[in-house]
Amino acid sequence: MSSREYDLLVVGGGLAGLTAANRAAQLGLTVAVLEKGADDRYLCNTRYTGGTVHICLTDIMSGEAAHVESIERLCDDARPDLVRAVARNAERAVRWLQGEGSKFIKASASPHHRWVLAPPGRTRPGLDWEGRAGDVLLRRLGDNLTERGGALFRGARARDLIVADGRCVGIAADIAGEPQSYSSSAVVLADGGYQAAPDLLKAHISSAPERLHQRNAGTGTGDGLRMAQDAGAASVGLNRFYGHLISLDALTNDNLWPYPYFDSLIGTAILVDGEGDRIDDEGLGGVHAANAVAGLADPQSAFVVFDQDIWEGAGKGGLISVNPHLIREGGTLHRADSVAELAVLIGAKRLGQTIERYNQAVESGAIEALSPPRTTLKGMPEPIRTAPYYAAPVCAGITYTMGGIAIDGDARVLRADDSPIEGLYAAGTTTGGLEGGSASGYVGGLSQSVITGLLAAEHVAGKASGN
Ligand SMILES: Cc1cc2nc3c(=O)[nH]c(=O)nc-3n(C[C@H](O)[C@H](O)[C@H](O)COP(=O)(O)OP(=O)(O)OC[C@H]3O[C@@H](n4cnc5c(N)ncnc54)[C@H](O)[C@@H]3O)c2cc1C
Repeated sequence: MSSREYDLLVVGGGLAGLTAANRAAQLGLTVAVLEKGADDRYLCNTRYTGGTVHICLTDIMSGEAAHVESIERLCDDARPDLVRAVARNAERAVRWLQGEGSKFIKASASPHHRWVLAPPGRTRPGLDWEGRAGDVLLRRLGDNLTERGGALFRGARARDLIVADGRCVGIAADIAGEPQSYSSSAVVLADGGYQAAPDLLKAHISSAPERLHQRNAGTGTGDGLRMAQDAGAASVGLNRFYGHLISLDALTNDNLWPYPYFDSLIGTAILVDGEGDRIDDEGLGGVHAANAVAGLADPQSAFVVFDQDIWEGAGKGGLISVNPHLIREGGTLHRADSVAELAVLIGAKRLGQTIERYNQAVESGAIEALSPPRTTLKGMPEPIRTAPYYAAPVCAGITYTMGGIAIDGDARVLRADDSPIEGLYAAGTTTGGLEGGSASGYVGGLSQSVITGLLAAEHVAGKASGN
């Protein structure tokens, strides 16, 4: 075992880690990134990203006050100092990425599509990342880091934080299977979350994690959370994830993930379990619905149910719409001329009465009295009355976990009493305290990764210069 010294060590070479590393190098610090992936183009969620840089699905350039309002409305558990820090630095994050050489395009007329990394992810179903948004971004940030004198060690898996007198002073890692230790003035954990850690998913998100779809790169195995907890850090909001409902057939058909997803349909249709009972307030949108399905005893027992009018309307919503891509790519869509026939087809014995009660509530305007209630935050309900009727079997596609390591508005890792652990920072989707809450509020994986990466590096640099 040998030891090398840096001002800053970063765990994870995704967007959050490479942002922190580049910003630290810009500010004159010596920096190294430990990345467990060994390939030149190691996989991570950033590599797979669609590339839409937004805040709460609004234009990221909308200004601090608008962002504070949107985040507070959607994320009722968010820390006020973190909300303010994200809102205040949103525009700067885009400008910083531009300064690093990133190009953006406007992908649609929707405000949140104004800043999309170029070249964008493709507009067809299935996964296609090579030479696109996240791949180009990571290669650029990797090159910039090398030019600035920083190091990116691939095949380097961080195992433990080295803590002395309550302060983080380095990392023990395995490099190509060999133990190695590094010492540093500060560490940034940016390992991407615990979406691919079955034990953590089982403890916090689903009793049957093996029945969720891993709508991600499979690299977020919770190492950062475990290391931080061992060092005395608090964790927050571990029971929520960002993800979508996708066709159940995505478990065996790679053309059906990460797109199309059912968000647009969910805003208008109903979500039922195998008995035909509604299981969620569909008005809270697709991310909330995916969390509800993951929480079922059997997360592979849910259906999205709708009629011909909804299929022709909301079914065509979104950049990669369920109608027609679901059928075109071989996904199952049950269809019947009556609700009674549809109920028999999918074996849901209470579907008829569920739809009858739902239609009455929609037509009389009494949707909040339904159980579960129906609100309209993410879409207006429509009655299900026009044949033919449809039921699509769906599963919960988990993209990344929203909760994680507790941090403050400077990305400092916090203990349960809110005191920072000296020398320890976290950035990107390994952190908690921003997204989630009762509405499973989604702020944006890319925006929070860049912003918290910048915040961490700048705080370390401030400390390093005695500021
Ligand atoms: C299909 C898909 C589409 C998406 N589309 C969008 C979008 O359009 N807009 C948006 O805002 N967000 C989107 N996201 C989310 C966004 O891409 C991520 O939230 C963001 O890129 C996360 O960055 P990160 O650096 O936190 O994590 P990652 O990019 O996952 O990087 C973490 C890195 O840490 C490494 N690592 C893990 N453990 C260790 C360890 N012990 N030692 C060393 N290295 C380790 C991993 O190998 C990985 O390289 C999408 C995600 C997916 C999967």
